Amino acid sequence: MDDDRAQCSTCSSFLRYQERFDAVYCPACDEWQETKCGDPRCRFCSERPRRPSLADEMIVRERAERRESLQRTREVNDRCTTTLGELLRAARSDAKR
Ligand SMILES: [Zn+2]
Ligand SMILES: [Zn+2]
Repeated sequence: MDDDRAQCSTCSSFLRYQERFDAVYCPACDEWQETKCGDPRCRFCSERPRRPSLADEMIVRERAERRESLQRTREVNDRCTTTLGELLRAARSDAKR
């Protein structure tokens, strides 16, 4: 994508590609260079914010949310391991008696 040196027709800045929304934009104008496809089920266009700068914030937020939910999953897993370990210990001490 680095070879794609298309320029903005308004300000001549080099355009960038926003992977999350599958669209090219001009960072200087803060404007998308592609119109939406109009499909309400399209996960790119239907969720695309009005401005590319808003997209960055959105992606940061999405990443933070994903990290949080990952952490939650890991905490649950830790708890399960502990419980399992305790159960095994309990079972072993039962067997000894
Ligand atoms: Zn521009
Ligand atoms: Zn679309």
